Amino acid sequence: TQAPVITVDGPSGAGKGTLCMRLAETLGWHLLDSGAIYRVLALAAIHHDVDTASEDALVPLAANLDVQFIAEGELVKVILEGEDVSGALRTEQVGNQASKVAALPRVREALLRRQRAFVGEPGLIADGRDMGTVVFPQAEAKIFLDASAEERARRRQHQLQGKGVNVTFDRLLSEIQERDDRDRNRAVAPLRPASDALVLDSTSLSIDEVIAQALAFIESKL
Ligand code: C5P
Repeated sequence: TQAPVITVDGPSGAGKGTLCMRLAETLGWHLLDSGAIYRVLALAAIHHDVDTASEDALVPLAANLDVQFIAEGELVKVILEGEDVSGALRTEQVGNQASKVAALPRVREALLRRQRAFVGEPGLIADGRDMGTVVFPQAEAKIFLDASAEERARRRQHQLQGKGVNVTFDRLLSEIQERDDRDRNRAVAPLRPASDALVLDSTSLSIDEVIAQALAFIESKL
């Protein structure tokens, strides 16, 4: 039998990254940041001058992606073709390109095996958009973490200000809404809660409250 899987899906900025990191830490389980794989692919396409709208060109790139995820304490270092791209991955431009390549069915197909290979003892926390619906439909526990677009833009603005980056709230909100619309409305693996997922709305919850509710749900499922 396979090691257990807990899936956490939801839109960008709902707090999945923090929740998944804390769950992986608390349980001592492996962590899959599937969004990072789509981001790495978008970055590889930019590096190799591959058109992010060309499915035919992207599929071989996706299938042969030379990427390593190296855990360093709380953080995960991402190495693409020998180069540390951990910082470059996190820009909104790369996130936006990632959501374009992620809308292509054969690109998603080419990345399935790579994502499933993260399953291992004692268990896996899988962070993404389609973890509970497509990649790990048999998961032991599924969580869908949501929050209003305004609250997600506020959190993102706060995060960026902490790094000394100034972006207007309106611009962040429209970027978030554009990416959400593409993720929710695509034909294949659209962003939506699995029918057996616990839907948590973090709009007015602290991160500690989200973690407590998630852990209580997980304990009831394991
Ligand atoms: O979660 P993150 O913001 O890093 O994801 C970047 C983009 O990758 C998302 O906007 C989405 O289009 C895509 N993605 C996906 N399926 C996943 C994870 C991410 O389509 N499981």
